[in-house]
Amino acid sequence: MNRVAFITGGTRGIGRQIAITLAKAGYDVAVNYRAENEDLTITKSEIEKCNVKCLPVQGDVSEFEDSENMVKQVIEQFGRIDVLINNAGITKDTLLMRMKKEDFEAVLQVNLVGTFNVTKSVIPYMMKQKEGRVINLSSVVGISGNAGQANYAASKAGIIGFTKSLAKELGSRNILVNAVAPGFIETQMTDVLKDEMKEEIKKTIPLKRMGTVEDVANVVKFLASEESSYITGQVIQVDGGMLM
Ligand code: NAD
Repeated sequence: MNRVAFITGGTRGIGRQIAITLAKAGYDVAVNYRAENEDLTITKSEIEKCNVKCLPVQGDVSEFEDSENMVKQVIEQFGRIDVLINNAGITKDTLLMRMKKEDFEAVLQVNLVGTFNVTKSVIPYMMKQKEGRVINLSSVVGISGNAGQANYAASKAGIIGFTKSLAKELGSRNILVNAVAPGFIETQMTDVLKDEMKEEIKKTIPLKRMGTVEDVANVVKFLASEESSYITGQVIQVDGGMLM
């Protein structure tokens, strides 16, 4: 039987690459999406090319009921969840002076509460299995802070506290919980930045380039594997040395 991975927001960007990388490693993959579109079709077909199963599950991670239903569907179909990757995330960048309460709440609701919703729904099954891995997508700005991203940085810092707390709660149950903190990765999320800004950012990165989705997915694959069985409660930066 293949190991089973469940990835939230898994149809494009970093989430899609994690799904494909794990599929190549032989996992059956459940991919959460919000609305059916071409991204989902492409992701599903890439996963199925790897001769593993792909289960698309529709839902909004910011809704607790949706999260519970999605997890139930994955369990019904695959019987277990070995690895949960909390990847779904949004930004609503602006300086605090201009940030509306709704902008702050929306980002916290998807990024942090969404991570809680799905994890809370998965953990009872991992406890029964007596093993499991949870991998949360944080960000370097959750460690360093960033002007114009008070909402996003707070959500990603919250994810770090959540990760470390769960690692302490669940270690004795053989459930390992870690976070990955990417720096600047080329995806649709960072496409919105102006070219001059991207060039300025690259100058601050020792490796002098933006990261790729593969750079992040490979670390997630390691954290999902047997090779990382003595690592829990850690935040692994994938940032080309940007933040030290
Ligand atoms: P992206 O915008 O390309 O993908 C995010 C995915 O999350 C999309 O598929 C979107 O539909 C999904 N999503 C958003 N809200 C959702 C909801 N409520 N329910 C379900 N799905 C939802 O972004 P990305 O760059 O691939 O980022 C993936 C993760 O990595 C995010 O958590 C992001 O914060 C984090 N991250 C990205 C970067 C970067 O430079 N791209 C850096 C640090 C951290």
